[in-house]
Amino acid sequence: MAHTSDLIFPHPVFVSKIWGGRRLETEFGYDLPAGPVGECWAISAHPHGDCVIDGGAYDGRRLSELWNEEPQLFGGASGDRFPLLIKILDVADYLSVQVHPDDAYAAEHEGGSLGKSECWYVLEADDDARIMIGQRAKGRAEFASMAGERRWDELLNEIPVDAGDFFNISPGTVHAVKGALILEVQQSSDVTYRVYDFDRLQGDGTSRELHLAQALDVIDYDAEPIATGAIAVPEIDGVTHLTDCRYFGVDRVRVAAGSSAVLALGKPFACVSVCAGAGTVSVSGDEPRGLRKGEHFIAPAACTELSFSGEMLLIVSYPA
Ligand code: ZN
Repeated sequence: MAHTSDLIFPHPVFVSKIWGGRRLETEFGYDLPAGPVGECWAISAHPHGDCVIDGGAYDGRRLSELWNEEPQLFGGASGDRFPLLIKILDVADYLSVQVHPDDAYAAEHEGGSLGKSECWYVLEADDDARIMIGQRAKGRAEFASMAGERRWDELLNEIPVDAGDFFNISPGTVHAVKGALILEVQQSSDVTYRVYDFDRLQGDGTSRELHLAQALDVIDYDAEPIATGAIAVPEIDGVTHLTDCRYFGVDRVRVAAGSSAVLALGKPFACVSVCAGAGTVSVSGDEPRGLRKGEHFIAPAACTELSFSGEMLLIVSYPA
């Protein structure tokens, strides 16, 4: 029988970014390195940021080691690496206009990396927040000429963005954002092709590399740009099923004040992110463990049910 003490709490990895801010510290209470920090890699076994486990039976071990050496925790989920990467993004200034490859392109051109399907749940949006998602060129040549002429406003599909919006960003979708805190669920990949970086210079006076040739290879010229990130599916007993793609599923779970919620887990394992509020989690009727905003944990395969109390907004993600 699983116990509350079996929940696995990875220690986040923080990544400095030219477009980042300090809200991961001021709003989530994380202990950050100095300067603008853009990304909290909350649950990651990627070699660029492989989380160390905090506490419990696996204290001090890396998530990649658990994947390789303790497969029972992940219920026999397939694949040669932990498949998901859960981040919080603090996008204070523009994220570069970018696009990600699919598995086939990344395997061939990026040394066996996975491709990158990602999705964004918007936790907070500033009054002047902007999001670009999708593009209007009908083919490679048209995209290249519009980009060369810097016709970004015509080329990119800009739509309003509000807290509580959700965006699926499949490989080949050009995207950028500014002025938002975002919970991101993605494949465990770190391959980004930058199309445009707003002519910014880094601290050392250089600009970040662009990858227009690769971007032109992978952009999906047939996709219709979307008009809204508003969630259309219903919330049932506090649970909103945000997406199911080839690689992952994502649910939003609201635990209402003074109530308790039981979440049945039907997948080999689940990643849980506390995005707002505070409360407790318990397994098999054990003593509850306190939870607060900014904590993330993995419920291993033996956990078939999680009981929550308090007032919290959770994002729960799991392999497809
Ligand atoms: Zn991206």
